[in-house]
Amino acid sequence: MDKIRMTTPLVEMDGDEMTRVIWKMIKDELLLPFIDLKTEYYDLGLEERDKTDDKVTVESAEAIKKYGVGVKCATITPNAARVKEYNLKQMWKSPNGTIRAILDGTVFRAPILVKGIDPHISHWKKPITIARHAYGDVYKASEMKIDRPGKAELVFTDADGNETRTLIHEFKGPGVIQGMHNLDKSIESFARSCFNFALDTRQDLWFASKDTISKTYDHRFKDIFAEIYENDYKDKFDAAGITYLYTLIDDVVARVIRSDGGFIWACKNYDGDVMSDMLATAFGSLGMMTSVLVSPDGKYEYEAAHGTVQRHYYMHREGKATSTNSVATIYAWTGALRKRGELDGIKELADFADKLDKAVIETIESGVMTGDLAAISTLPGAHKVETLEFIKAIRSNLEKSL
Ligand code: NAP
Ligand code: MG
Repeated sequence: MDKIRMTTPLVEMDGDEMTRVIWKMIKDELLLPFIDLKTEYYDLGLEERDKTDDKVTVESAEAIKKYGVGVKCATITPNAARVKEYNLKQMWKSPNGTIRAILDGTVFRAPILVKGIDPHISHWKKPITIARHAYGDVYKASEMKIDRPGKAELVFTDADGNETRTLIHEFKGPGVIQGMHNLDKSIESFARSCFNFALDTRQDLWFASKDTISKTYDHRFKDIFAEIYENDYKDKFDAAGITYLYTLIDDVVARVIRSDGGFIWACKNYDGDVMSDMLATAFGSLGMMTSVLVSPDGKYEYEAAHGTVQRHYYMHREGKATSTNSVATIYAWTGALRKRGELDGIKELADFADKLDKAVIETIESGVMTGDLAAISTLPGAHKVETLEFIKAIRSNLEKSL
């Protein structure tokens, strides 16, 4: 069989620990035998980031800007323990944060559904994709503890020194205050990424805030979304047969629980932080959560939502058997290959991605799965296999379909 040709390289970002091990297995077993794989390789493993003073991370993000599509392995975000473990020059920032800032993108997370892994909400039949605004609000707030009576005010001073003030509270005793902000530009990018992704995946978009209580701050989010929708997207949504819904955050939570899935849920920063963990848990397994970063100008970076699975890696290093779920990482590759195929007009590449996805689902639905899934599967005959064995089982199903 001739290997599938590619014209434009994918930006490949390697990573750390168990996911780095899986990365190589996926390439060796599921990609290189079938595709004349063209990638521009960036090693985002922690050692290389340290060696290059994290320049490699910035370069990889610039490459996504250039080529349009990247695929990323999970990476360690260093903490104090990692600085010691890897003898790092400094506590480098989260690569995902760095890449997101450069691409000005929004992260969309969606679960992969298979028979036997049932969501806790039994009528969720289709995936729910969650989009989290990743700038500002409580994550960039200033806070103060008040220990005596006094007056707290918000003060804005413009470039000419003119002040605008508003009273927060007259304190009669101790308390706390907090000042936070967001930027029209960031909210606009978020809105455009969400509208584009909804069109791209032909799913309805829901967005919610608390504008009845937060009449200026949250209302600004609502207005920006509404303006951009009316001006630039309403006609496209109508043509695609999808809808945009704005409602209150408490109402949307009730609608999500009552729904059967199949839509995109756009969340403000804090809501997205909390609700994405709720959704991941309700859908069953971290190993089945995909993630894609989409920039407002249509650049894509695909990855798994989980981390480097450190505990499994330490077992692997000691020569012990592991059963680590590679599904979300495989879907990161297929997402990127499919997008590359679409952009370059290479139908075989997009078809291959579909077939590989299908082989993954067939493998699990035939009862062959990793330990995390075997522990929760309701399929009769579901059994756990080792990390590489699972990937080889997918390969054999894939070969049948090619
Ligand atoms: P993690 O890698 O997501 O794993 C947490 C636990 O979830 C694992 O110990 C495992 O549970 C289960 N799990 C996650 N993915 C799995 C998979 N594919 N197959 C089977 N089980 C899976 O989080 P972590 O261990 O707390 O973090 C490790 C490193 O990942 C950290 O250094 C963190 O900075 C990094 N991280 C990176 C990203 C990213 O690059 N996108 C995201 C999150 C975290 P059991 O141990 O019970 O088997
Ligand atoms: Mg969280």
